[in-house]
Amino acid sequence: MEIIHVSAECYPVAKAGGLGDVVGALPKYQVAAGHIAKVVLPMYRTKFLYENKWDVVHKSSAYLGATWFDYTVIKERDNVLGFDLYLVDINGLTDREKVYGYSDDTERFMSFQIAVVDWLANWQHHPDIIHVHDHHTALIPFMIKYCYSYQQLASIPTVLTIHNAQYQGQMDWSRSNYIPHWDGWQWGILDWHNMINPLAAGIRSAWKVTTVSWSYLEEMRMESNGLEALFEYERGKCVGILNGIDTKVWDPSTDKYLEQHFDIDTMASGKRANKEWLCAEFGLQPDKPLFIFIGRLVGEKAADLLPRAIGDSLYYINQRMNFLVLGSGEPHIEAELSHMTHYWPGVYNARIGYNEQLSHRMYAGADFLLMPSRVEPCGLNQMYSMRYGTVPVVRRTGGLRDTVIDFGEPNGYGICFNAASVGDITQAVYRGVELYQNQMQFDVIRRQLMEKDFSWDISTEQYIDLYKSLVP
Ligand code: ADP
Repeated sequence: MEIIHVSAECYPVAKAGGLGDVVGALPKYQVAAGHIAKVVLPMYRTKFLYENKWDVVHKSSAYLGATWFDYTVIKERDNVLGFDLYLVDINGLTDREKVYGYSDDTERFMSFQIAVVDWLANWQHHPDIIHVHDHHTALIPFMIKYCYSYQQLASIPTVLTIHNAQYQGQMDWSRSNYIPHWDGWQWGILDWHNMINPLAAGIRSAWKVTTVSWSYLEEMRMESNGLEALFEYERGKCVGILNGIDTKVWDPSTDKYLEQHFDIDTMASGKRANKEWLCAEFGLQPDKPLFIFIGRLVGEKAADLLPRAIGDSLYYINQRMNFLVLGSGEPHIEAELSHMTHYWPGVYNARIGYNEQLSHRMYAGADFLLMPSRVEPCGLNQMYSMRYGTVPVVRRTGGLRDTVIDFGEPNGYGICFNAASVGDITQAVYRGVELYQNQMQFDVIRRQLMEKDFSWDISTEQYIDLYKSLVP
Protein backbone atom coordinates (compact mmCIF):
# COMPACT_ATOMS: atom_id res chain seq x y z
CA MET A 1 0.00 0.00 0.00
CA GLU A 2 1.28 3.50 -0.78
CA ILE A 3 0.54 6.07 1.92
CA ILE A 4 1.35 9.74 1.67
CA HIS A 5 1.50 11.68 4.94
CA VAL A 6 1.11 15.45 4.73
CA SER A 7 2.12 17.30 7.87
CA ALA A 8 3.56 20.52 9.31
CA GLU A 9 6.11 18.62 11.45
CA CYS A 10 8.28 15.52 11.21
CA TYR A 11 11.16 14.70 13.56
CA PRO A 12 14.11 15.24 13.01
CA VAL A 13 13.37 17.57 10.10
CA ALA A 14 11.15 19.95 12.04
CA LYS A 15 9.52 19.43 15.42
CA ALA A 16 7.58 21.66 17.79
CA GLY A 17 5.87 18.89 19.79
CA GLY A 18 4.28 15.46 19.66
CA LEU A 19 3.04 15.81 16.06
CA GLY A 20 6.68 15.85 14.91
CA ASP A 21 7.49 12.69 16.84
CA VAL A 22 4.50 10.83 15.42
CA VAL A 23 5.07 11.79 11.79
CA GLY A 24 8.78 10.98 12.21
CA ALA A 25 8.03 7.49 13.49
CA LEU A 26 4.77 6.10 12.06
CA PRO A 27 5.94 6.10 8.39
CA LYS A 28 9.14 4.32 9.42
CA TYR A 29 7.11 1.54 10.99
CA GLN A 30 4.78 1.42 8.00
CA VAL A 31 7.79 0.88 5.72
CA ALA A 32 9.05 -1.85 8.05
CA ALA A 33 5.63 -3.51 7.74
CA GLY A 34 6.14 -3.68 3.95
CA HIS A 35 4.32 -0.57 2.76
CA ILE A 36 5.47 2.52 0.89
CA ALA A 37 5.19 5.56 3.16
CA LYS A 38 6.03 9.07 2.01
CA VAL A 39 6.06 12.27 4.02
CA VAL A 40 5.52 15.77 2.63
CA LEU A 41 6.42 18.84 4.70
CA PRO A 42 6.90 22.55 4.08
CA MET A 43 10.56 23.34 3.45
CA TYR A 44 11.59 25.19 6.60
CA ARG A 45 15.11 26.51 6.97
CA THR A 46 16.26 23.87 9.48
CA LYS A 47 19.55 22.13 10.20
CA PHE A 48 18.26 18.95 8.58
CA LEU A 49 17.79 20.78 5.28
CA TYR A 50 21.42 21.89 5.14
CA GLU A 51 22.88 18.60 6.34
CA ASN A 52 21.29 16.41 3.64
CA LYS A 53 21.24 16.14 -0.12
CA TRP A 54 18.18 16.91 -2.19
CA ASP A 55 16.88 16.40 -5.73
CA VAL A 56 14.29 18.61 -7.36
CA VAL A 57 11.31 16.44 -8.38
CA HIS A 58 8.70 18.99 -9.40
CA LYS A 59 8.38 22.68 -10.10
CA SER A 60 5.19 24.51 -10.83
CA SER A 61 2.97 27.44 -9.89
CA ALA A 62 -0.45 27.91 -8.36
CA TYR A 63 -2.73 30.64 -7.04
CA LEU A 64 -3.35 31.67 -3.47
CA GLY A 65 -6.39 33.89 -3.98
CA ALA A 66 -5.27 36.43 -6.54
CA THR A 67 -1.57 35.84 -5.87
CA TRP A 68 0.43 33.66 -8.18
CA PHE A 69 3.18 31.68 -6.42
CA ASP A 70 5.91 29.32 -7.60
CA TYR A 71 6.64 26.17 -5.68
CA THR A 72 9.35 23.51 -5.84
CA VAL A 73 9.17 19.98 -4.46
CA ILE A 74 12.49 18.47 -3.41
CA LYS A 75 13.20 14.90 -2.30
CA GLU A 76 15.81 13.76 0.19
CA ARG A 77 18.32 11.69 -1.79
CA ASP A 78 19.63 9.02 0.57
CA ASN A 79 16.51 7.90 2.42
CA VAL A 80 18.19 8.70 5.74
CA LEU A 81 14.93 8.57 7.67
CA GLY A 82 13.85 5.20 6.29
CA PHE A 83 11.03 6.67 4.19
CA ASP A 84 10.71 9.05 1.23
CA LEU A 85 10.77 12.63 2.41
CA TYR A 86 9.58 15.52 0.24
CA LEU A 87 9.78 19.21 1.10
CA VAL A 88 7.74 21.91 -0.58
CA ASP A 89 9.54 25.20 -1.03
CA ILE A 90 7.43 28.29 -1.54
CA ASN A 91 9.59 31.37 -1.75
CA GLY A 92 9.09 33.73 1.13
CA LEU A 93 6.43 31.62 2.84
CA THR A 94 7.83 28.26 3.93
CA ASP A 95 11.56 28.97 4.17
CA ARG A 96 11.60 30.21 7.75
CA GLU A 97 13.44 28.97 10.81
CA LYS A 98 10.42 28.18 12.97
CA VAL A 99 7.49 25.95 12.13
CA TYR A 100 4.77 28.20 13.55
CA GLY A 101 4.28 31.58 15.13
CA TYR A 102 4.29 33.94 12.15
CA SER A 103 1.53 36.44 11.41
CA ASP A 104 1.04 34.91 7.96
CA ASP A 105 0.75 31.28 9.12
CA THR A 106 -2.66 31.06 7.42
CA GLU A 107 -1.14 32.00 4.05
CA ARG A 108 1.87 29.73 4.65
CA PHE A 109 -0.14 26.59 5.35
CA MET A 110 -2.83 27.37 2.76
CA SER A 111 -0.25 27.72 0.00
CA PHE A 112 1.52 24.58 1.22
CA GLN A 113 -1.71 22.57 0.99
CA ILE A 114 -2.51 23.99 -2.45
CA ALA A 115 1.00 23.13 -3.69
CA VAL A 116 0.73 19.56 -2.35
CA VAL A 117 -2.63 18.95 -4.02
CA ASP A 118 -1.43 20.57 -7.24
CA TRP A 119 1.66 18.34 -7.24
CA LEU A 120 -0.34 15.16 -6.49
CA ALA A 121 -2.65 16.00 -9.39
CA ASN A 122 0.42 15.76 -11.62
CA TRP A 123 1.41 12.25 -10.53
CA GLN A 124 1.18 9.49 -13.11
CA HIS A 125 -0.48 7.23 -10.56
CA HIS A 126 -2.53 7.70 -7.38
CA PRO A 127 -1.32 6.84 -3.88
CA ASP A 128 -3.64 4.46 -2.01
CA ILE A 129 -4.16 6.79 0.94
CA ILE A 130 -3.64 10.46 1.71
CA HIS A 131 -3.12 10.83 5.46
CA VAL A 132 -3.23 14.40 6.77
CA HIS A 133 -2.41 15.60 10.29
CA ASP A 134 -4.05 18.42 12.28
CA HIS A 135 -5.57 21.63 10.95
CA HIS A 136 -2.51 22.74 8.94
CA THR A 137 -3.26 20.06 6.36
CA ALA A 138 -6.95 19.39 7.10
CA LEU A 139 -8.27 21.29 4.06
CA ILE A 140 -6.69 18.77 1.70
CA PRO A 141 -9.60 16.28 1.98
CA PHE A 142 -11.98 19.16 1.19
CA MET A 143 -9.88 20.39 -1.73
CA ILE A 144 -9.64 17.04 -3.46
CA LYS A 145 -13.36 16.53 -3.10
CA TYR A 146 -14.68 19.95 -4.01
CA CYS A 147 -12.07 21.96 -5.97
CA TYR A 148 -12.83 21.71 -9.68
CA SER A 149 -9.18 21.46 -10.74
CA TYR A 150 -8.40 18.48 -8.55
CA GLN A 151 -11.36 16.22 -9.25
CA GLN A 152 -9.04 13.49 -10.56
CA LEU A 153 -7.92 12.95 -6.95
CA ALA A 154 -11.42 12.72 -5.50
CA SER A 155 -11.44 8.93 -5.36
CA ILE A 156 -8.33 8.70 -3.14
CA PRO A 157 -9.33 7.81 0.44
CA THR A 158 -8.29 10.41 3.00
CA VAL A 159 -7.57 10.00 6.70
CA LEU A 160 -7.29 12.93 9.11
CA THR A 161 -5.48 12.40 12.40
CA ILE A 162 -6.24 14.90 15.12
CA HIS A 163 -3.26 15.35 17.41
CA ASN A 164 -4.73 18.39 19.08
CA ALA A 165 -8.24 19.79 18.57
CA GLN A 166 -7.55 22.96 20.55
CA TYR A 167 -5.99 24.50 17.44
CA GLN A 168 -8.33 24.63 14.44
CA GLY A 169 -6.82 27.19 12.06
CA GLN A 170 -9.97 29.36 11.82
CA MET A 171 -9.96 32.15 9.25
CA ASP A 172 -12.63 34.62 8.28
CA TRP A 173 -14.75 34.23 5.20
CA SER A 174 -12.92 37.02 3.38
CA ARG A 175 -10.17 34.46 2.80
CA SER A 176 -12.45 31.90 1.14
CA ASN A 177 -10.85 32.79 -2.21
CA TYR A 178 -7.59 31.22 -0.95
CA ILE A 179 -9.13 27.81 -1.62
CA PRO A 180 -8.78 27.08 -5.36
CA HIS A 181 -12.02 27.44 -7.28
CA TRP A 182 -14.42 25.26 -5.28
CA ASP A 183 -18.03 24.19 -5.39
CA GLY A 184 -19.81 27.04 -3.58
CA TRP A 185 -22.73 24.79 -2.61
CA GLN A 186 -20.34 23.13 -0.15
CA TRP A 187 -19.75 26.24 1.96
CA GLY A 188 -21.47 24.55 4.92
CA ILE A 189 -18.61 22.03 5.08
CA LEU A 190 -16.11 24.83 5.62
CA ASP A 191 -18.21 26.86 8.03
CA TRP A 192 -18.24 26.60 11.81
CA HIS A 193 -19.63 29.52 13.81
CA ASN A 194 -19.37 31.92 10.86
CA MET A 195 -15.70 31.24 10.23
CA ILE A 196 -13.88 28.92 7.85
CA ASN A 197 -12.71 26.19 10.20
CA PRO A 198 -10.12 23.92 8.52
CA LEU A 199 -10.25 21.29 11.26
CA ALA A 200 -14.04 21.09 11.12
CA ALA A 201 -13.86 20.92 7.30
CA GLY A 202 -11.33 18.09 7.60
CA ILE A 203 -13.53 16.15 10.01
CA ARG A 204 -16.47 16.47 7.62
CA SER A 205 -14.56 15.76 4.40
CA ALA A 206 -12.05 13.06 5.36
CA TRP A 207 -13.12 9.47 4.87
CA LYS A 208 -11.97 8.57 8.38
CA VAL A 209 -10.85 10.61 11.36
CA THR A 210 -8.53 9.29 14.02
CA THR A 211 -7.58 10.72 17.37
CA VAL A 212 -4.41 9.77 19.18
CA SER A 213 -6.02 7.98 22.14
CA TRP A 214 -9.40 6.40 22.92
CA SER A 215 -10.12 8.56 25.95
CA TYR A 216 -9.38 11.76 24.02
CA LEU A 217 -11.94 10.72 21.42
CA GLU A 218 -14.56 10.33 24.17
CA GLU A 219 -13.56 13.59 25.85
CA MET A 220 -13.81 15.60 22.63
CA ARG A 221 -17.55 15.03 22.53
CA MET A 222 -17.69 16.98 25.80
CA GLU A 223 -14.81 19.44 25.42
CA SER A 224 -13.03 20.23 22.18
CA ASN A 225 -12.81 23.99 21.94
CA GLY A 226 -16.21 24.43 20.33
CA LEU A 227 -16.32 21.33 18.11
CA GLU A 228 -18.17 19.09 20.62
CA ALA A 229 -21.38 18.85 18.56
CA LEU A 230 -19.40 17.98 15.44
CA PHE A 231 -17.60 15.13 17.18
CA GLU A 232 -20.90 13.84 18.49
CA TYR A 233 -22.42 14.01 14.99
CA GLU A 234 -19.43 12.46 13.21
CA ARG A 235 -18.62 9.83 15.84
CA GLY A 236 -19.32 7.05 13.34
CA LYS A 237 -16.23 7.87 11.31
CA CYS A 238 -13.91 8.55 14.26
CA VAL A 239 -11.49 5.99 15.68
CA GLY A 240 -9.01 6.27 18.57
CA ILE A 241 -5.53 4.86 17.84
CA LEU A 242 -2.95 5.36 20.56
CA ASN A 243 0.37 6.84 19.50
CA GLY A 244 3.48 4.76 19.95
CA ILE A 245 7.03 5.91 20.48
CA ASP A 246 10.05 5.44 18.29
CA THR A 247 11.91 2.89 20.39
CA LYS A 248 15.03 3.27 18.25
CA VAL A 249 15.37 6.99 18.91
CA TRP A 250 14.21 6.62 22.52
CA ASP A 251 16.38 3.84 23.84
CA PRO A 252 18.38 4.41 27.04
CA SER A 253 20.88 1.74 26.02
CA THR A 254 21.91 3.60 22.84
CA ASP A 255 20.61 7.17 23.21
CA LYS A 256 23.35 9.44 21.81
CA TYR A 257 22.48 12.24 24.21
CA LEU A 258 22.97 10.41 27.51
CA GLU A 259 25.85 10.70 29.97
CA GLN A 260 25.67 6.97 30.65
CA HIS A 261 23.70 4.30 28.83
CA PHE A 262 21.62 1.78 30.76
CA ASP A 263 19.15 -1.04 30.30
CA ILE A 264 16.84 -2.83 32.67
CA ASP A 265 19.73 -4.67 34.37
CA THR A 266 21.88 -1.58 34.86
CA MET A 267 18.94 0.72 35.49
CA ALA A 268 19.75 1.78 39.06
CA SER A 269 23.39 2.70 38.44
CA GLY A 270 22.73 4.15 34.98
CA LYS A 271 19.93 6.38 36.15
CA ARG A 272 21.99 7.47 39.13
CA ALA A 273 24.88 8.56 36.87
CA ASN A 274 22.50 10.57 34.68
CA LYS A 275 20.86 12.07 37.77
CA GLU A 276 24.23 13.12 39.17
CA TRP A 277 25.06 14.87 35.93
CA LEU A 278 21.73 16.71 35.94
CA CYS A 279 22.02 17.69 39.60
CA ALA A 280 25.55 18.98 39.11
CA GLU A 281 24.50 20.94 36.06
CA PHE A 282 21.50 22.52 37.78
CA GLY A 283 22.74 22.78 41.37
CA LEU A 284 20.33 20.17 42.74
CA GLN A 285 20.72 17.40 45.31
CA PRO A 286 21.07 13.87 43.94
CA ASP A 287 20.02 12.18 47.20
CA LYS A 288 16.55 13.67 47.06
CA PRO A 289 13.93 12.48 44.57
CA LEU A 290 14.00 14.52 41.36
CA PHE A 291 10.69 15.59 39.77
CA ILE A 292 10.81 17.04 36.27
CA PHE A 293 8.41 18.76 33.91
CA ILE A 294 9.12 18.97 30.17
CA GLY A 295 6.75 20.65 27.76
CA ARG A 296 5.00 23.65 26.40
CA LEU A 297 4.33 26.18 29.15
CA VAL A 298 0.66 26.68 28.34
CA GLY A 299 -2.71 26.25 30.05
CA GLU A 300 -3.38 22.95 28.25
CA LYS A 301 -0.41 21.44 30.08
CA ALA A 302 -1.53 23.15 33.33
CA ALA A 303 1.90 24.80 33.37
CA ASP A 304 0.31 27.86 35.03
CA LEU A 305 -0.18 25.70 38.14
CA LEU A 306 3.47 24.68 38.33
CA PRO A 307 4.85 27.69 40.24
CA ARG A 308 2.39 27.28 43.11
CA ALA A 309 2.39 23.47 43.07
CA ILE A 310 6.19 23.40 43.19
CA GLY A 311 6.33 26.14 45.82
CA ASP A 312 3.70 24.41 48.00
CA SER A 313 5.41 21.02 47.66
CA LEU A 314 8.77 22.43 48.64
CA TYR A 315 7.26 24.36 51.54
CA TYR A 316 4.84 21.81 52.97
CA ILE A 317 6.90 18.69 52.30
CA ASN A 318 9.99 20.30 53.79
CA GLN A 319 12.15 20.42 50.65
CA ARG A 320 12.36 16.63 50.61
CA MET A 321 12.57 16.69 46.81
CA ASN A 322 14.08 18.59 43.82
CA PHE A 323 12.27 20.02 40.80
CA LEU A 324 13.65 20.76 37.36
CA VAL A 325 11.54 22.35 34.60
CA LEU A 326 12.31 22.51 30.87
CA GLY A 327 9.91 24.36 28.61
CA SER A 328 8.86 27.43 26.75
CA GLY A 329 5.51 29.04 26.13
CA GLU A 330 3.47 31.82 27.66
CA PRO A 331 5.76 34.65 28.78
CA HIS A 332 4.18 35.12 32.23
CA ILE A 333 4.65 31.41 33.07
CA GLU A 334 8.23 31.51 31.78
CA ALA A 335 8.91 34.59 33.92
CA GLU A 336 7.38 33.12 37.06
CA LEU A 337 9.25 29.84 36.70
CA SER A 338 12.54 31.66 36.12
CA HIS A 339 11.95 34.03 38.99
CA MET A 340 11.35 31.15 41.41
CA THR A 341 14.89 29.87 40.98
CA HIS A 342 16.00 32.63 43.37
CA TYR A 343 13.65 31.44 46.11
CA TRP A 344 14.54 27.77 46.07
CA PRO A 345 18.24 27.43 45.27
CA GLY A 346 19.50 23.86 45.56
CA VAL A 347 16.06 22.25 45.18
CA TYR A 348 14.53 23.93 42.15
CA ASN A 349 15.76 25.04 38.77
CA ALA A 350 14.32 25.80 35.34
CA ARG A 351 15.63 26.04 31.80
CA ILE A 352 13.42 28.15 29.57
CA GLY A 353 13.66 27.16 25.92
CA TYR A 354 13.56 24.12 23.67
CA ASN A 355 16.41 21.65 24.10
CA GLU A 356 16.15 18.16 22.63
CA GLN A 357 19.38 16.88 24.18
CA LEU A 358 18.52 18.10 27.66
CA SER A 359 15.05 16.55 27.42
CA HIS A 360 16.61 13.10 26.82
CA ARG A 361 18.99 13.59 29.74
CA MET A 362 16.10 14.62 31.97
CA TYR A 363 13.97 11.60 31.11
CA ALA A 364 17.01 9.44 31.92
CA GLY A 365 18.15 11.14 35.13
CA ALA A 366 14.82 11.95 36.80
CA ASP A 367 12.89 9.86 39.30
CA PHE A 368 9.44 11.28 38.51
CA LEU A 369 7.87 13.11 35.54
CA LEU A 370 5.03 15.53 36.29
CA MET A 371 2.17 15.87 33.76
CA PRO A 372 -0.77 17.68 35.33
CA SER A 373 -2.28 18.42 31.86
CA ARG A 374 -5.77 19.83 31.53
CA VAL A 375 -5.92 18.41 28.00
CA GLU A 376 -3.67 15.61 26.74
CA PRO A 377 -4.68 14.04 23.42
CA CYS A 378 -2.11 11.28 23.83
CA GLY A 379 1.03 12.58 25.47
CA LEU A 380 4.39 11.14 24.57
CA ASN A 381 6.43 12.37 27.54
CA GLN A 382 4.92 9.81 29.89
CA MET A 383 5.84 7.01 27.47
CA TYR A 384 9.41 8.28 27.04
CA SER A 385 9.77 8.60 30.81
CA MET A 386 8.58 5.04 31.37
CA ARG A 387 11.02 3.71 28.78
CA TYR A 388 13.76 5.48 30.74
CA GLY A 389 12.58 4.11 34.12
CA THR A 390 11.09 7.41 35.33
CA VAL A 391 7.76 7.18 37.18
CA PRO A 392 4.99 9.24 35.51
CA VAL A 393 2.88 11.42 37.80
CA VAL A 394 -0.14 12.27 35.69
CA ARG A 395 -3.60 13.70 35.75
CA ARG A 396 -6.24 11.20 34.62
CA THR A 397 -7.11 12.70 31.23
CA GLY A 398 -6.95 11.69 27.52
CA GLY A 399 -3.98 9.55 26.63
CA LEU A 400 -2.57 9.79 30.16
CA ARG A 401 -5.61 7.90 31.39
CA ASP A 402 -5.03 5.25 28.71
CA THR A 403 -1.33 4.70 29.38
CA VAL A 404 -0.75 5.08 33.14
CA ILE A 405 -2.21 2.97 35.96
CA ASP A 406 -1.76 4.16 39.52
CA PHE A 407 0.59 1.99 41.57
CA GLY A 408 -2.15 1.64 44.18
CA GLU A 409 -4.24 -0.35 41.67
CA PRO A 410 -3.61 -3.93 40.50
CA ASN A 411 -0.57 -4.04 38.15
CA GLY A 412 -0.14 -0.28 38.53
CA TYR A 413 3.14 1.55 37.92
CA GLY A 414 2.50 5.31 38.03
CA ILE A 415 0.95 8.02 40.17
CA CYS A 416 -2.42 9.35 39.04
CA PHE A 417 -4.63 12.16 40.27
CA ASN A 418 -7.96 13.59 39.17
CA ALA A 419 -7.94 17.37 39.22
CA ALA A 420 -5.68 19.90 37.54
CA SER A 421 -5.28 21.71 40.84
CA VAL A 422 -2.40 22.74 43.07
CA GLY A 423 -3.74 20.51 45.87
CA ASP A 424 -3.91 17.36 43.75
CA ILE A 425 -0.44 17.94 42.28
CA THR A 426 1.08 18.52 45.73
CA GLN A 427 -0.61 15.40 47.08
CA ALA A 428 0.73 13.37 44.14
CA VAL A 429 4.24 14.74 44.75
CA TYR A 430 3.92 13.67 48.39
CA ARG A 431 3.03 10.14 47.30
CA GLY A 432 6.10 10.15 45.05
CA VAL A 433 8.38 11.27 47.87
CA GLU A 434 7.02 8.48 50.09
CA LEU A 435 7.42 5.90 47.31
CA TYR A 436 11.02 7.01 46.81
CA GLN A 437 11.76 6.23 50.47
CA ASN A 438 10.74 2.63 49.88
CA GLN A 439 13.66 1.84 47.56
CA MET A 440 12.64 -1.79 47.04
CA GLN A 441 9.14 -0.97 45.82
CA PHE A 442 10.49 1.98 43.83
CA ASP A 443 12.94 -0.29 41.99
CA VAL A 444 10.27 -2.91 41.26
CA ILE A 445 8.08 -0.18 39.72
CA ARG A 446 10.95 1.25 37.67
CA ARG A 447 11.71 -2.19 36.24
CA GLN A 448 8.03 -2.69 35.48
CA LEU A 449 8.05 0.62 33.57
CA MET A 450 11.07 -0.30 31.50
CA GLU A 451 9.47 -3.60 30.51
CA LYS A 452 6.40 -1.94 29.03
CA ASP A 453 6.03 -1.92 25.27
CA PHE A 454 4.88 1.41 23.84
CA SER A 455 6.41 0.83 20.41
CA TRP A 456 4.50 1.62 17.25
CA ASP A 457 4.00 -2.04 16.25
CA ILE A 458 0.40 -2.40 17.48
CA SER A 459 -0.74 1.05 16.37
CA THR A 460 0.90 0.65 12.95
CA GLU A 461 -1.23 -2.44 12.40
CA GLN A 462 -4.35 -0.57 13.47
CA TYR A 463 -3.64 2.22 10.96
CA ILE A 464 -3.05 -0.31 8.19
CA ASP A 465 -6.32 -2.09 9.01
CA LEU A 466 -8.08 1.28 8.88
CA TYR A 467 -6.54 2.09 5.46
CA LYS A 468 -7.50 -1.36 4.17
CA SER A 469 -11.10 -0.75 5.14
CA LEU A 470 -11.07 2.28 2.78
CA VAL A 471 -9.23 0.89 -0.21
CA PRO A 472 -11.52 -0.94 -2.66
P1 ADP B 1 2.51 18.30 22.70
O1 ADP B 1 1.10 18.61 23.11
O2 ADP B 1 3.42 19.44 23.00
O3 ADP B 1 2.62 17.81 21.30
P2 ADP B 1 3.44 15.65 23.51
O4 ADP B 1 3.58 15.04 24.86
O5 ADP B 1 2.59 14.91 22.54
O6 ADP B 1 2.95 17.15 23.71
O7 ADP B 1 4.90 15.81 22.86
C1 ADP B 1 5.84 16.66 23.39
C2 ADP B 1 7.17 16.38 22.72
O8 ADP B 1 7.91 17.59 22.69
C3 ADP B 1 8.03 15.40 23.50
O9 ADP B 1 8.92 14.76 22.61
C4 ADP B 1 8.80 16.32 24.45
O10 ADP B 1 9.98 15.74 24.92
C5 ADP B 1 9.07 17.48 23.51
N1 ADP B 1 9.26 18.77 24.17
C6 ADP B 1 8.32 19.63 24.60
N2 ADP B 1 8.87 20.75 25.09
C7 ADP B 1 10.22 20.59 24.98
C8 ADP B 1 11.34 21.42 25.32
N3 ADP B 1 11.20 22.60 25.86
N4 ADP B 1 12.58 20.94 25.03
C9 ADP B 1 12.73 19.72 24.46
N5 ADP B 1 11.70 18.91 24.12
C10 ADP B 1 10.47 19.33 24.38
